[in-house]
Amino acid sequence: MSSLPTISPTTSPPASDQRLRAALEEANLPTLLLVLAHLTGDDRWIEEPYLPSRPRGVDDNDTGGFSDELQASIRSDAYEVLRAVRAGSLRPADPPSPERLVRMLAVSLHAELPEATGPLFAEELGIASREVEIPPSPALEGFRVLVIGAGFSGLLASIHLAKNGIAHTVVEKNSKVGGTWWENHYPGAGVDTPSHVYSLSFFQRADWPHYFSKRDELHAYLESIADTYDLSRHIRFESEVVAARWDDGAALWQVDVRGPDGEIETLSAHVVVSGVGLLNRPSFPEIKGLEGFEGPAMHTAQWRDDVDLSGKRVAVIGTGASAMQTVPAIADTAERVLVFQRTAQWGFPNPNYFREVSDATQLLMREVPFYLGWYRLRHLWNFGDSLHPLVQWDREWPHPERSISAFNDRVRAGLTEYIRAELGERAEELMPKCLPSYPPYGKRPLIDNGWFRTMAREDVDLVTDGIDEVRADRIVTTTGDEYPVDVVVVATGFRVLRVLGPMEVYGRDEARLHEIWGEDDARAYLGLAMPGFPNFFCTFGPNTFAGHGGSGILTLELEVRYVMEMIKKMLAEGIASVDCRQDVHDEYNERLARRLQDTIWAHPGMTTYYRNSKGNIVVPMPWTNYDYWQMVREPDLADFHVRKNGVTAGEASV
Ligand code: NAP
Repeated sequence: MSSLPTISPTTSPPASDQRLRAALEEANLPTLLLVLAHLTGDDRWIEEPYLPSRPRGVDDNDTGGFSDELQASIRSDAYEVLRAVRAGSLRPADPPSPERLVRMLAVSLHAELPEATGPLFAEELGIASREVEIPPSPALEGFRVLVIGAGFSGLLASIHLAKNGIAHTVVEKNSKVGGTWWENHYPGAGVDTPSHVYSLSFFQRADWPHYFSKRDELHAYLESIADTYDLSRHIRFESEVVAARWDDGAALWQVDVRGPDGEIETLSAHVVVSGVGLLNRPSFPEIKGLEGFEGPAMHTAQWRDDVDLSGKRVAVIGTGASAMQTVPAIADTAERVLVFQRTAQWGFPNPNYFREVSDATQLLMREVPFYLGWYRLRHLWNFGDSLHPLVQWDREWPHPERSISAFNDRVRAGLTEYIRAELGERAEELMPKCLPSYPPYGKRPLIDNGWFRTMAREDVDLVTDGIDEVRADRIVTTTGDEYPVDVVVVATGFRVLRVLGPMEVYGRDEARLHEIWGEDDARAYLGLAMPGFPNFFCTFGPNTFAGHGGSGILTLELEVRYVMEMIKKMLAEGIASVDCRQDVHDEYNERLARRLQDTIWAHPGMTTYYRNSKGNIVVPMPWTNYDYWQMVREPDLADFHVRKNGVTAGEASV
């Protein structure tokens, strides 16, 4: 099997030495030093005087805090090394060992990185493979997999299945790939993870135009994944899985799929992989009279491009991540925006949030070996496990009413000052409404999209009284105040807690998954497998969201590897079914629940969709990304009831 390509999506010829030299003027020096240490194998680039200053928060730290002279000499030394590499007179050193890699990154970031993280970073840097290779075999030929959804997860699964020659069908309810990045196209929609991190480790874009991508760029990236790997031939568009039933005799899943014509067809497969994601079904608030509103009303996830907001009074209900992006984006167009807030939100400043990636930086990302990789690794750590301590609840901390630890309290203080500054002249009036009472990170953290400045605009009203009812042309609050509006935008999020909803899944003995889970109490082993539901694997299942930080794409890559490793074992050992052991599942979930009690999400000071109606924390994981990488690196068959093929696995139709 050929290895998966690491792409630079450009066919332009290499830049001249002169352009390279000029581009180096814009290089991020801590990254450049790592490139030098990598290419030369010489540790002098990670020792004095080349030790960058400690980055401030998630700042890129472009200059590394070096003097002007040292900056200039690093750039010209880098130029000489790169020119020699280009000319072939310098053979790049062998890739760093996992230990050296950790040391390089630790020095660059002033971070204490567990030494064992080396292999994870090596995979992310592309110097170690995450691919699972399944040897051809007669068993493989009849083996069939059904994947639900053609968003990030489904496409990723399809790439790996196709690479291994495994017949599979991806069932997608929309007419395009992209999942949430296809559906959500409200004004300002975009991602809060840096673009270079929020992308597949083996399919990097050197030419991301923005440090944080907006929806169209992300969707184009997803389309390019589907095109490059020729995935559309595996996808049934405009088709929706309505139910899946496990046939124990045949060791097959029978999956009911509603096609574009409304007809139900039953497909059968040996393995089902769910890639339906968390943010799949919009959640509508139960507000009296909302359906009777006479003007246009829409959910952010079902944005209506035909509704012109210019000159309109627009009500936005909800203040989560979607509102954070929508409201600043529509404030210039609408005559007036009225924001109905139930809970104030923290917004983190980020200097790169609106920044374009310059041509020079794109050149470096494209042409300087490992520059993109090291830039990405620095951010993977900074936006990921470096933040894990921020969500650990120090039970000795004396101010739990506002924060959970000294670290968390410092962040709170910094953010409070930030909000005050952003509100400017209206700070005194608006601080009581805009300052959250709960600790930062208690709800999903948001990057400030200009929210606080927008709240301070004269043509924006921040209404914090509860909504009593919606009438034909107005919103009435519990205080009896009436707000006439022309358009209502509902930014109330998704039905995250009904995992795999609305489809029905029946396992062994006709057990109904949503009966076991109830409406909102999903559990799984490693977030991936459920006892009694053999050969069924979830991606982004319960308690797999890295609430402290990281990239969802990394999580997905790890989960898909786990599934591929499992398929490899099944084929190699003639296994018809793997069914997670109940005791293993229960022990894991008890450990998980105990560990979650030490995190911020156990704090009672806020509502959050991370917790269900019983107060159980069901969305985030308590682990670091590195912990999870270890846990799902390879499935252990001892965790499963394994049925060998003595029982004939049935013939699948997918
Ligand atoms: P959300 O975070 O669940 O926020 C929903 C908002 O609606 C909250 O402010 C909530 O208030 C409010 N709300 C819910 N029911 C209400 C009611 N009956 N009356 C009044 N207000 C009500 O949803 P979201 O903003 O769509 O974001 C969901 C997730 O999508 C995010 O957490 C994130 O993972 C993802 N997302 C990411 C980005 C990004 O990366 N930039 C952008 C958009 C979405 P309470 O807080 O009081 O419950």
